[in-house]
Amino acid sequence: MRLRRRGGTAGTAGTAGDATTGTGTRARIVVVGGGPVGHRVAERLRHHGHEGPVTLLDAEPGPAYHRVLLPALLDGSLTPADLHLPDLNRLPGVPGMPDVTVRHGVSAAGIDRRRQEVRTTEHDRLPYDTLVLATGARPHLPPVPGLRHASGWLIDGVTGLRSRTDCARVRGEEIVVLGGGPLGVEAAAALRRAGRRVTLVHPGPYPLDDRLDAGAGEVLTRHLAGLGVGLELGRIAAEVRPGKLALDDEWLLPWDTLLCCTGVRPRTRLAEAAGLAVRSGVLVDAEGRTSDPAVRAVGDCAEPGGSLYDGWEQAERVARSLTGGSAPHGTAARRPVFRLRVPGLTLGVLGDGKGEAGDEIVTYRDAARGRYARISLDAEGRLRAAVVTGLPQALATLTQLYAADTPLPESRLALLLGRPAPRGGPLPELPPEAVVCRCNNVTKGALASAWEEGARTQEALVEATRATTGCGSCTDDIKVLCREFAEVGS
Ligand SMILES: Cc1cc2nc3c(=O)[nH]c(=O)nc-3n(C[C@H](O)[C@H](O)[C@H](O)COP(=O)(O)OP(=O)(O)OC[C@H]3O[C@@H](n4cnc5c(N)ncnc54)[C@H](O)[C@@H]3O)c2cc1C
Repeated sequence: MRLRRRGGTAGTAGTAGDATTGTGTRARIVVVGGGPVGHRVAERLRHHGHEGPVTLLDAEPGPAYHRVLLPALLDGSLTPADLHLPDLNRLPGVPGMPDVTVRHGVSAAGIDRRRQEVRTTEHDRLPYDTLVLATGARPHLPPVPGLRHASGWLIDGVTGLRSRTDCARVRGEEIVVLGGGPLGVEAAAALRRAGRRVTLVHPGPYPLDDRLDAGAGEVLTRHLAGLGVGLELGRIAAEVRPGKLALDDEWLLPWDTLLCCTGVRPRTRLAEAAGLAVRSGVLVDAEGRTSDPAVRAVGDCAEPGGSLYDGWEQAERVARSLTGGSAPHGTAARRPVFRLRVPGLTLGVLGDGKGEAGDEIVTYRDAARGRYARISLDAEGRLRAAVVTGLPQALATLTQLYAADTPLPESRLALLLGRPAPRGGPLPELPPEAVVCRCNNVTKGALASAWEEGARTQEALVEATRATTGCGSCTDDIKVLCREFAEVGS
């Protein structure tokens, strides 16, 4: 074998609650899980006027945080406090509402569905009218020999990446990242920026190969190599030994930390033990109802689940349904937008990135400068899918057009070159209800109102609406809108 080194609480009974469904503005609601989606449920319940007691249990020590930003802890660009989600009891727009009881570091240990009670790890029981499970997902680690002790515990230095605790486990100079999906790529780039020696091991021909075509894959590969990330592509981990990882071609990689970014599995043990219907996740209907109408499930623990943005939409649906409102339109799930968070590289995928047979395809390629775009249009000239790298203005405009679901201007090239008003006429208007910042649910209309009220710079818009303060991937979109508002006003 060769050793390879690279250069590189319980409340009173609800007065208006419906005993069979657990709804009504005074029903007792217990939320289990304080990740972004559980937190969102509690926030939206108060927003929609739920006045009954809401208790949120979270196994993790507090406060709640924005999980997608964890790589920024790895490179030190953000501190743990920067990741905090807003305090549920200091939210704007819900003054005078009773506080949400938040219990960090306390887990739900069991559910008694007959008595409608949750048993906690602090040995108390919380009665509920509605229970909302938001227990999320846990890292899935591959069955590589040597990864675990005979007892089943992971060997020292091996970790997934799902929590602040996982980030704190990343130690030493030599880091091997397993898995070249978004999480693995973002983590590898962050650790490299922090000066660690990083190797990314991925079985595909290039990272993110399930989302990108070869043109975009080339740009990403070059970018990572340029950062000094070692790339072991087309390889899988064959055996883990203390301090060494053997690949399937028998190369040995040294490691101090072996970071497994190899997928997640819904956390369903609590639901299963309570006898709820579970497949890979807890089975739910469109309003998050499980096989027991008094129990809902949202986010990564639910099936259908999907992305964080689907989770947010589910949270909104559950909160509205529990407060007697109607369901919102499901836009996020139908028009998925993926943005990679690697500073210095713009990379976005709209839809599935591929489109359908018979679509009009427009491609722009300038690999030496890290630019590539492939857009796929339906017969009416609407954007069905796109992969864009290194063209921030084009990605921002295309994302708008994709959200608005309107035909593209005639001059596709001008669009890809980032000219805001191609010769074929001005860009179609994004409707006011289009969500620009998905993390904070900020619409174009909300941004326009803030502008009208005097927030006339990008910074002022951010301050007024909280747009861009989640994953940050809408920053370019806000820039484009800012310019648009200024042009309209001038
Ligand atoms: C680095 C990173 C980047 C990501 N980027 C993206 C992205 O760009 N787009 C995207 O769509 N998704 C992304 N994700 C995934 C996204 O973070 C998840 O979809 C999201 O966190 C799901 O939220 P959730 O609240 O359902 O579950 P989780 O965030 O997993 O939170 C569940 C919480 O429940 C707690 N819990 C579990 N069991 C119990 C119990 N019995 N009692 C009490 N508490 C319990 C857990 O401790 C945890 O705090 C990313 C994830 C990571 C780690």
